[in-house]
Amino acid sequence: MQFDNRSRRSKILRDVNEIKASDNYTFTSTGESNLCMYELAPKEDISLRNFEDIAAQRLKALRKIEELKLRHEKGTHEEYKASMTKELTPIFDLCKLHTSAITNEQRKEYRLNDVIGHFALRLAFCRSPEDTKWFVTHEIELFRYRFQNETKSAIKNFFLDNNFDAELMSPTEKESRIEDLCASYGLSPDKVRSTEIWAMDALDALELVRKRKAFVHSGKVYLEYDSLITIIVQRLRANMYSSMARANQYMGMIEEQDRLLPRLERLTKGGYGGKEFNAAEGQSITRHQIDSASSQFFPLCMSGIQSHLRKNHHLKHGARRQYGLFLKAIGLSLDEAMAFFREEFTQKIDSDKFEKQYGYNIRHMYGKEGKRVEYTAFSCASIILNNPPSHDDCHGCPFKHSTEDGLKSILKSNKIKSEYIDEMIALSKINQFDKACSLHWEVSRGREKGSLPSLITHPNQYYDLARDAAGNAVEGFKMEESSE
Ligand code: SF4
Repeated sequence: MQFDNRSRRSKILRDVNEIKASDNYTFTSTGESNLCMYELAPKEDISLRNFEDIAAQRLKALRKIEELKLRHEKGTHEEYKASMTKELTPIFDLCKLHTSAITNEQRKEYRLNDVIGHFALRLAFCRSPEDTKWFVTHEIELFRYRFQNETKSAIKNFFLDNNFDAELMSPTEKESRIEDLCASYGLSPDKVRSTEIWAMDALDALELVRKRKAFVHSGKVYLEYDSLITIIVQRLRANMYSSMARANQYMGMIEEQDRLLPRLERLTKGGYGGKEFNAAEGQSITRHQIDSASSQFFPLCMSGIQSHLRKNHHLKHGARRQYGLFLKAIGLSLDEAMAFFREEFTQKIDSDKFEKQYGYNIRHMYGKEGKRVEYTAFSCASIILNNPPSHDDCHGCPFKHSTEDGLKSILKSNKIKSEYIDEMIALSKINQFDKACSLHWEVSRGREKGSLPSLITHPNQYYDLARDAAGNAVEGFKMEESSE
């Protein structure tokens, strides 16, 4: 066993050294493009302080993209793109590359930081499948945005730099294939003449060729602009997933491990939508306090599940997971969670059945079964974007998943004034769930509108802020001090 490990470690080291020794080891592009496929990591020396600052800036931008994506879920692409420009440019140097107001030195620096920041976050986010997926999704979104802002000549250089055999079709060439192009894309000749069409090596677009979604001729595939981005993004995504899986294996080989790993840890915990919320140190909650906490501190998504549980003595899988992880993060211990769910569920089923069907599931959430992973509570983005509830489910976000009448009745029973109910419904209709929920937080505690310093992006953030605002000195509820 030991021999196996030694031989694996030396193979990894050999691989790393070979890459470093290679003449091709470079991270910058040869041409004028600001874009990069991130195929090779940077070799520059960089201080840990700079490393962390550059990564933190990029992470802030990815987090903003997550927020904007949610906000513009139903809006037009143009609105989304305009918001990206408005909100990313002040916080992310990379987005200034498209402006003419920067010097060549700055351009060079921003491009270098692009690669350093990208690879720093790859390292930080490679350690769990959830983190990797979050990172890849938002990096791809950033790449798409940047690609759309590049000039034609920069895109040509990008293709050259990255061995994509792609050329914009000239008007003469288009004219020579006009009938085929019209038939393939269902466009009129005039529309084909005014549309950008790129010719690319068919081997780079096998998926589209296989699905017969593009015109192919003499080894070339002819693509509209949107399909072109799809091909590039496919390659980038595959490259990121495979290299992050490898990076995860290499973590043990990192020089400066002791100083670097805590920094990477801080990055993944410190700020994105998937931020971990845990019970504040020294505080816990018992199952007997949940009803009181629910009525005073829980966001609507969680108080709704609590009411459903009390009424029906059962929760389906989606709600068990959303609610169970939330309760864990406010300080409900595994023993208390088992007792809490057992007391409710056994009003309908016997204890044996509970143990067999649900006990494992609850212990699993606490990292005591299966892969023994410490699962974290879902953020609003994750609740809103993943696993939507069907008609008989009670999980999800009421601002996103309830009908207008359903939401109105929830808010009425929550004693929210009708003027605010209308405002929350209006915000929900334009996908501003974070604003609707923040407004709910404010008005249900008699605070000024807009007084919350930041928007609610996590149910446990809602809870923590509500509990802090009440100073824990609310009748019928007092946080337990841990005996440890
Ligand atoms: S916005 Fe977030 S915290 Fe508020 S109800 Fe929806 S999921 Fe819950």
